This record gives sequence, structure tokens and C-alpha cells, in this order.
Amino acid sequence: MDRRDFLALSAAAGSANLLARPAAAAVQAAGGAPDIAVVGAGAFGGWAALCLRERGLSVLSLDEYGPSNPRASSAGETRSIRSGYGAMAFYSEWAAQAMPLWERRQAEFKRTILYPNERLEMAQVWNPALLSQRATFDRLKLPYELLDREALRKRYPQMNFDDVEFGFVETAKTAAVIKAREAMIRASEVFQDKGGRFQIARAVPGEARGRTLLTLKLNDGSAVSAGQFVFSCGPWSPKTLPTIMKPLIHIVRSEYYYWGVPAGDDRFSWPHQPAWHDHIDGGYGFGSIERGLKYSPDDNGEVYHDPDNAERLPTPYLIEKGRLYVNKRFPGMRDAPIVETRVCQWEIAPKEDFIIDRHPDYDNVWIASGGGSHGFKFGPLLGDYIADRVTGRATNPAIDQRFSVKRGSI
Ligand SMILES: Cc1cc2nc3c(=O)[nH]c(=O)nc-3n(C[C@H](O)[C@H](O)[C@H](O)COP(=O)(O)OP(=O)(O)OC[C@H]3O[C@@H](n4cnc5c(N)ncnc54)[C@H](O)[C@@H]3O)c2cc1C
Repeated sequence: MDRRDFLALSAAAGSANLLARPAAAAVQAAGGAPDIAVVGAGAFGGWAALCLRERGLSVLSLDEYGPSNPRASSAGETRSIRSGYGAMAFYSEWAAQAMPLWERRQAEFKRTILYPNERLEMAQVWNPALLSQRATFDRLKLPYELLDREALRKRYPQMNFDDVEFGFVETAKTAAVIKAREAMIRASEVFQDKGGRFQIARAVPGEARGRTLLTLKLNDGSAVSAGQFVFSCGPWSPKTLPTIMKPLIHIVRSEYYYWGVPAGDDRFSWPHQPAWHDHIDGGYGFGSIERGLKYSPDDNGEVYHDPDNAERLPTPYLIEKGRLYVNKRFPGMRDAPIVETRVCQWEIAPKEDFIIDRHPDYDNVWIASGGGSHGFKFGPLLGDYIADRVTGRATNPAIDQRFSVKRGSI
């Protein structure tokens, strides 16, 4: 649907059941106002703004700190894409669909953001999640290998597999490390090159008439009007849309560290070192891409984290846990120094499903949130999906239902 069609639909929406939901599904922007204002320029909002702009709509992207600001979940140096999702088969399939979109965007962005590589899951037993995952890979015909301890030792001699019975190895066809921060900065640049407008501002819902939101209220007291609004505020969602999102979202902190690799030694770096998930000791990590071997001992954050005001200082207990792990699993990295630390947060939504739906109180407001600990990899696919929903293009009702607001509180 191009801009002319969208505006025609928007104008007709009050009288005809043309969009996904009847009656005032969208309003045409008043003179000079953008068709769509997207609040938040992380993986959800950044890709949504770009994809909406590519459909010919005038789009204003707002972020209170800027794309890839250090408080945002999408601002980590790296994030992984993988189809290994345990029992969450839907996301295995979606990740496989997202991979070719990343490859296309990488070519368009003219920057290396995708580092394809194997991803290793180490285990002692076939737990239910791994059994489901294997069935999903077989059903979707996604390639993988099962390696016993001896085969693992041969393939990855830099790792210690003494307590590992087998490895589930996902191939580079479905697994890669993404340079996340760079990808989001580039996405915003391309959005602006294509005519999108970006503004630094904190925005909350402003004036409304009935079920139509008319304006955003900005932190300087000014107002911005638009035809439709997308709130993609990630871990700020409970603050920005408290009545809807507070009962649905819980924010927790997570830490990860980069261990400096030995001088002149590339065994622990991409592409020699695969990304991994450890079902025995917990945690996950990636081979070094410029910054060091990345490992997070903290795969199950439980501590509340305020994304605006929390200090990003690592916890001594978790550092020690990580050091013991690196010493054990990577003998050649014994007592390696930590060269960088990151403290981040993710938002936990019910069943870890995304929340992408129309706001229950407004016909022209959308929520795109709930990325949790796994949303980044879907960015380009999410952008298209959100743009489809906002412009009224047909989407898969089962997916719409999965992402709906009406799933109760957590
Ligand atoms: C430690 C960690 C590791 C992860 N690893 C992976 C991984 O390997 N693979 C993967 O796919 N995913 C991973 N994730 C998850 C992924 O990073 C997130 O799901 C995703 O980045 C969320 O994107 P978002 O746009 O929803 O939120 P964010 O990136 O946080 O963006 C929200 C943006 O909205 C802005 N904002 C908020 N409120 C307002 C407002 N009122 N007005 C204006 N601007 C506002 C903020 O400034 C921010 O820039 C990880 C997350 C963490 C924390």
C-alpha cells in the first residue's frame, strides 16, 4: 500500500470497514503533520519507522536519548540471531525468515553487520527444550549437527568439554552475530536518507478526542500531531503507557562482560569461536569480534532495573561467576582480564511473546514492544510486520493473536 492508498483508507476509515478494524482505524494527518509518529528508535521502533517510510508515508521518529543510546536494549555491540529456540517453535521459524532480510539490509547498508557462524549448545541430557528444538529443526528442514564429546574436542579444541555429553550445532545458515548498535545507527541514517525525520524528545500520549489520539506531549511542553502513533518504548513501556503496559511488563537487569583474548591468538575470536549456549553451567557467549570473548553468566535476571536512572555497574558476584566459568570452559583464557562490561535490561512479557497490537483505548495508536531477551534478531521482519499492521495490510491472524495485548498480566 503506498501513501496515497493509505491516506485514502485513513480518510475513509470512519465510514467504511476497510482497515483491519472498523471505524476510525486511522486518521489523516492534519496539514504539515506526519502520517505516523514512532516513539522509540530501538530495534522495534527503528525498523518500524524505516519500513513505514519505505511505503511512502511521512514518518517522524522520536527517541528521548537517540538511536542506540547506551540505555537502550538494542544498543549492545552485538546480538545473536539463531533458530535454536527450545520449545518456542514459532520463533525458530521467524528467525529463519529474518536471516535473509538481514542479508539484504547488510547489502543495502553497505556495512558489515552480520557475522555468520555456528552456534553450539552444550548439554549432558536431552532436556524437553532440546527435544522440541530438534523436532522443529527437522520439521523446518533447518540444518544442524549433533556432535559427541570427542567430535566437539576436535572441532573446537580451544574449549573444555570434559562435562559435556553432546553438542547441538546450528549452522551459519541460521546463526550469526549481528553488530547491533551499528545496525540501529545505520537503520536511522537510512531512514533519514529516505526522507524520514528524526527528533530527540521524550514523548507521551497527549490530547485525545474520544478514541482518537491527536497529539504527543513532548518533554519541553510542546505537542506533536500525527495521523497514527506507534509506541515502541521497549523497557520504558510501563512508564510511557502505564495503564496498559505496567501489568504486562516486568523489567530486569542483565550483565555481560568481554574477556581480553591472548595477544596474537585468534582461537577465541569469530569465526573460530562459535557463539554458544551452555545448558550445563548456564549463560551464553560469542567469539570475540573486536572487543573480546563475550560471556554472560546472567541468563536469568531477576533484579528490577530502571532504564533511566540505574547505574550500569557490574556486580562483583556475577563477575566472579563469569571468571570461574571462563577459566573452566576456556583453559587458554585462564585469568584473562575483563576489558569491557555492559549492564543492560530486558522487559519480560507474558510467555516472552512480543506485544504488537492496537492500543485498547485508541483506534490510531499501536504498541510494539515486549522484545525481552530475544527481540533484536527479528528487527527487519518486525519492521515489515508492524508496517503491515499500521497500514492495514493483511497479516496472519494467528500471529496477530499471539502478539495481542489481551493476554492477561504476568
Ligand atoms: C543483555 C541482553 C542481551 C540480549 N541478547 C539478544 C540476542 O542475542 N539476540 C536477540 O535477538 N535479542 C537479544 N536481546 C533482546 C533485544 O536486545 C531486545 O529485545 C531489543 O533490543 C528491544 O528493542 P526495543 O526497540 O523494544 O527496545 P530498546 O532498544 O530499549 O529501544 C527503546 C527506545 O525507546 C526510547 N524511548 C523509550 N520511551 C520513550 C519515550 N517516552 N519517548 C521517546 N523515546 C522513548 C528509548 O530511549 C530507547 O532508545 C538482548 C537483550 C539484552 C538486554
